[in-house]
Amino acid sequence: MATEPDVAVLVGLQAAGKTTFYARCLAGRYALVSKDLFPRGARNKQGRQMRLVAEHLAAGRAVAVDNTNPSPLEWGPLVEAAHAHGATATAYWFPPDLTGSLRRNAAREGRDRVPDVGVLATSKRLRRPSPRDGFDAVREVRFDGRGGFRVRDRTDNTRSRSPAVDGWYVDDRCVNCDVARQFAPELIGEADGKSRILRPPADDAENRRLHAAAFACPTRSIRPVTGRADPALDPFPLALDDGVLICGHNSARTAGANAYLLRRPSGTGMMVDTPRWSRELARRYTAYGPVTDVLLTHRDHAAHGRRYADHFGARLWIHEGDLDAAPDADQVIRGLEPLEIAAGVTVHPLPGHTRGSVLYLADDRYCFSGDSFYWSRTTGDLEVVESVTWYSIEVLADSLARTAGRLRFEWVLPGHGDRRRLPAEEMSRRLHGLTERTRLLRPRPVDFTDVRW
Ligand code: SF4
Repeated sequence: MATEPDVAVLVGLQAAGKTTFYARCLAGRYALVSKDLFPRGARNKQGRQMRLVAEHLAAGRAVAVDNTNPSPLEWGPLVEAAHAHGATATAYWFPPDLTGSLRRNAAREGRDRVPDVGVLATSKRLRRPSPRDGFDAVREVRFDGRGGFRVRDRTDNTRSRSPAVDGWYVDDRCVNCDVARQFAPELIGEADGKSRILRPPADDAENRRLHAAAFACPTRSIRPVTGRADPALDPFPLALDDGVLICGHNSARTAGANAYLLRRPSGTGMMVDTPRWSRELARRYTAYGPVTDVLLTHRDHAAHGRRYADHFGARLWIHEGDLDAAPDADQVIRGLEPLEIAAGVTVHPLPGHTRGSVLYLADDRYCFSGDSFYWSRTTGDLEVVESVTWYSIEVLADSLARTAGRLRFEWVLPGHGDRRRLPAEEMSRRLHGLTERTRLLRPRPVDFTDVRW
């Protein structure tokens, strides 16, 4: 097996040489997973594939996935699974040679041969993988003309990094989402629209905060030059106080949103939005008690909701305005009136960022505000994400005006932007101030670069 756990994702047309390449170059070091090896009538091949990949990774084995894997739709979950298990992800890219693939496919027999239309359909979807897709390495594979393969590393052609500071750096996949800086603002700063290591950790506590930042970063861009952050220093889920934990392991498929676990007096928990999906992470989140509900604040954070809800045996919640993002939700919140969904937990519909945005209030203490408002370190105040409002800033102003007087909380716990705890009276005063300021805002084009973190 490979010395380091790795997921090798073979990317190429049918009959491009992938299976032969696996047999000659990877077998013995990598376990093999391929949908082609599943029984013809097997159901849910994707689920079965991901289960097998996770099992190999959990056992510390490297694994190669030999399908066409033509686009991020197919390789994205594999990259996430690799990183969720602390493994690397390597793309083996077979540049398309449609004529050659059709010729070799025509020479195949039985189940190995696919209809030509299948090869043509794959060629239309085929995309060249890159480190920007989350891969730690990209290797190009070509026939060498002597019955073997020539493999070239193509990783560094496309990835650059900020200067390393005492062994840590930020690679160029950083999307400036602010998540890591929230955990270690004294160690990680913002420069030219990306994160940058400011100085090395000075003591054990700072080293732990830097590791928290690394394990929260949705693109895994914060790295020691040795390659991987120490899994023993992964702190998640991390208690913010005795009633709430932050999940870490933010997912690129939820725009890097923070997710939380709300603990209930009965010993159960509720998950608010979700981290990246991983069975191993899901097990960690239930160590504090069964999770009964997965509460989505809005459509942008819905990607892993069903997976977590199914794993937990929990109910999945979303507002009807964003229902198309989670059409199989178990509980649909309707209208604009607040609704108590469990003892001490109320949902407040707050359309504006999206049509179906809501916030969840718990125990007069916690406000899970989704992307409706957040704490800005730049302004030292509550803010709306004015420059990233998908539905209507004017509707958001109306929502705040209707709702602000009903909300009492100490903690603002947003999807994006920083968290903050203040006395409830001060939080209320600031929320009314935000409501007034939002009334003056007018629609503007979406601009991710203009968020005041
Ligand atoms: S969390 Fe990661 S992607 Fe987001 S700003 Fe920090 S380094 Fe960049």
